Amino acid sequence: MAYLTSKNRSFGLAVVGAALLGTGFLAWQFTGGRTSVSQWFNPNAISRKTLTTEAEAAFAHTAGLIAEAERQKLYNVTVPPQFLGKTIKDVKLKPDQKYIALTFDDGPWPKVTNNILYTLKAHDVRATFFVVGLHAQAYPEQLKQIVAEGHILANHTWNHRYHNFSTQQAAVQFKKTADVIYKHTGVKTSLFRPPGGHLRNGLVKYANANKYSSIMWSQDSGDTTNISSSSILANILAGAKPGAIILMHDGGGDRLKTASMLPQAIKELKKRGYQFVTVPELFELAAQNSSQS
Ligand SMILES: [Zn+2]
Repeated sequence: MAYLTSKNRSFGLAVVGAALLGTGFLAWQFTGGRTSVSQWFNPNAISRKTLTTEAEAAFAHTAGLIAEAERQKLYNVTVPPQFLGKTIKDVKLKPDQKYIALTFDDGPWPKVTNNILYTLKAHDVRATFFVVGLHAQAYPEQLKQIVAEGHILANHTWNHRYHNFSTQQAAVQFKKTADVIYKHTGVKTSLFRPPGGHLRNGLVKYANANKYSSIMWSQDSGDTTNISSSSILANILAGAKPGAIILMHDGGGDRLKTASMLPQAIKELKKRGYQFVTVPELFELAAQNSSQS
């Protein structure tokens, strides 16, 4: 189970639970006075206390491994090696792999980020947030909350400019943002999104030379333009496909339209059979497919 959607997490826990039940059952057999069992095992060789302790230790160990794997995914954000140093706008999945990644740019931002986090939590959805360093510095509480609620942080430069960058200037944009993210959350991220989707102003060149993965999108919700929230919703639904990366915004301006249509977008996509994953999880799925083919 290389990546964990909530379904897979439940499955993982179910496996642990089943293993424990099995261990418990054996413990009962060992110590429970079924004389036929004692013909197979020496019931004195292993006490109930030892087995219970072992089972507890096994559970704690496995639960600890799962928790650690989850923690690593949040705090050391990376993607399979084939996606590092590349610019990606979507991934190829099988038609029945209805996984989609929601992404939010330009935050964190007061109110809107909180509102979006509330919706994501209410619908058990995890997303990827491409934060602007300056905004992360200004709103560290929102930044921390993004991580605390299990979402992925990604670098969207320090101040979101579109001009040409020398290597040195690009390095400053990346490093200052990485530093403020790390300072407030302890997260290190190898995901980057170029502001405005500009691919030739030096930032993507720097990203790809420094083992970042530059993440574009397969569908723009259009939420920074002057369209209605129902048009934003329609754009998102039109872009739904296995492996899609949807662009939305939680900061950089008034994004209340985005926040207000999000619950409906999630409900409608779920109704159509989609499950939501983070960008690294989406890449993990694609990598598994290619290793199987
Ligand atoms: Zn942006």
